[in-house]
Amino acid sequence: MSEAPHLTFDLDKPGISKGHLVVPKGADCEALSLPVFSLNKGDGPRLLITGGCHGNELEGPLVARRLVEWLPEAQTCGRVIIVPVLNPPAVQAFTRNTPIDGLNLNRVFPGRANGSVTERIADAVSRLLLPTADTVFDLHSFGPTWDFPPSTTTHPISDPALMAKTIGMAEAFKLPMTLVWDHPDTPGMFDISAHNKGKVFVCAELGGGTVGAESLAIYEAGVRNALISLGLIEGKAEYPMFRQRKSSQTLQTRRPADELKSPARGIFEPRCSMLDEVKQGDLIGILHPMDSSSADSNDVRSPGPSIVCGIRSGGYVEVDEWLALLARPLNR
Ligand SMILES: [Zn+2]
Repeated sequence: MSEAPHLTFDLDKPGISKGHLVVPKGADCEALSLPVFSLNKGDGPRLLITGGCHGNELEGPLVARRLVEWLPEAQTCGRVIIVPVLNPPAVQAFTRNTPIDGLNLNRVFPGRANGSVTERIADAVSRLLLPTADTVFDLHSFGPTWDFPPSTTTHPISDPALMAKTIGMAEAFKLPMTLVWDHPDTPGMFDISAHNKGKVFVCAELGGGTVGAESLAIYEAGVRNALISLGLIEGKAEYPMFRQRKSSQTLQTRRPADELKSPARGIFEPRCSMLDEVKQGDLIGILHPMDSSSADSNDVRSPGPSIVCGIRSGGYVEVDEWLALLARPLNR
């Protein structure tokens, strides 16, 4: 019989303490030890910050590590638990899914104690970390094949009070975009699992090639704004500068019209940029089939007035892969 998931230290100890979340071994791999930092300044908001859910999204782990550097001094109350890397095998392999079992950690929540390694990670987080928090920031990025503005996202929530609270928290990051994303594939997502327990859960995203100093600074500024809004630190929240602008907009997507998919295999040539406004029929990009001399290139056009919230920026695409995600201002 294998051991149960456990923490190697007492999260309730006052001040800063650190240790590991131990995910038990199973048939597929040895036990994992995830570094965990607990910043406990007594009564106040209870926040969990996680990064590295997807292994090819490295901004989250980096911003989480930066927080570990400065937050202990800045924090005035409450408790913040930081887990920079939720999925160490995926981060080490720089893959979205866990290489050991091929599963997407953000589709297996709340996990299974006797499942494969990805399910055991989700189970350990669900049992030992999620109950300690009222609010969760899960730091993602769109990965290296998308241009996507620094943003916070959530999905539609059936409880209107929790939806309003979650949108308010997401907007408190003051990032260029807050997105209510009508996602086609939500079962097993960490945020849905947390929302079902009544928690405020905000997912931060950004995209655009590789990890860069400027995008990390914007991402970190967003998290700092959110910490100010929660009352965990003092300071004045400010919109970070992005493309010569300090602004923010709250958008929503609608399925399936907002998901522009590839009509063929090939290379996608974007013809607009993230946050561009487009009208019906405007050219979003062109899909160039590369394995035939007779196949024509395909124009991909906007089905209606929209804002481009994300667009493919690299990678060979297959038929029906997403090329762009469109949105409109949130209808409150
Ligand atoms: Zn992700």
